[in-house]
Amino acid sequence: MATLYKQGSRGEVVRQIQKTLRLYPDGIWGPLTTERVREFQREHGLKDDGIVGPATLAKLLPGVAKSALGLKKSRRNIKEIIVHCTATPEYRDYTVADIRQWHKLQGWSDIGYHYVVYRDGTVHEGRDVDISGAHCTGHNANSIGVVYVGGVAPDGKTPKDTRTDLQKAALLSLLLDLRKLYPQAEIHGHRDFANKACPSFDATKEYRKV
Ligand SMILES: [Zn+2]
Repeated sequence: MATLYKQGSRGEVVRQIQKTLRLYPDGIWGPLTTERVREFQREHGLKDDGIVGPATLAKLLPGVAKSALGLKKSRRNIKEIIVHCTATPEYRDYTVADIRQWHKLQGWSDIGYHYVVYRDGTVHEGRDVDISGAHCTGHNANSIGVVYVGGVAPDGKTPKDTRTDLQKAALLSLLLDLRKLYPQAEIHGHRDFANKACPSFDATKEYRKV
């Protein structure tokens, strides 16, 4: 399920790669990026092919690489991938264990989401993907629920896209992998299906080309 990044690639992950390599982060991979990737690979004892596959990504962007690891494919018929925010204040970290505890207090059996993207760009598994989530009324049976930590301004109530650069890159990388697992599935934001601000940005628009 590994995604490859190479000359001609574009987007948020490329931007993060360029930042790490101290190149101008325009998100468009040209010859200069290839050259710097080759140097980076030589410095780290990797094959200097100028292509960012799983091994190079693991050194370059550890958080993003985690989401490129093999994901378990659900036995359910997945028609939608639904993006959420935890509706927690900007700059604050929460873990799968925290969210699981909130959801259990609501009387649910487990955390409602299948994947959680932390502020540091690491991706963590929540509920088993073979089991329907509890994240979007009327859409749980045939969907995967993905959540990023944040989504509300520091005041604790105003909806805000609080995603860190690493979260944006990791979320994109995770969605690319999920689309490979479920090519027929559409990516939506929770707000497409409910009168809510969640996930505090237009996920359908942002991920239209994923
Ligand atoms: Zn939501």
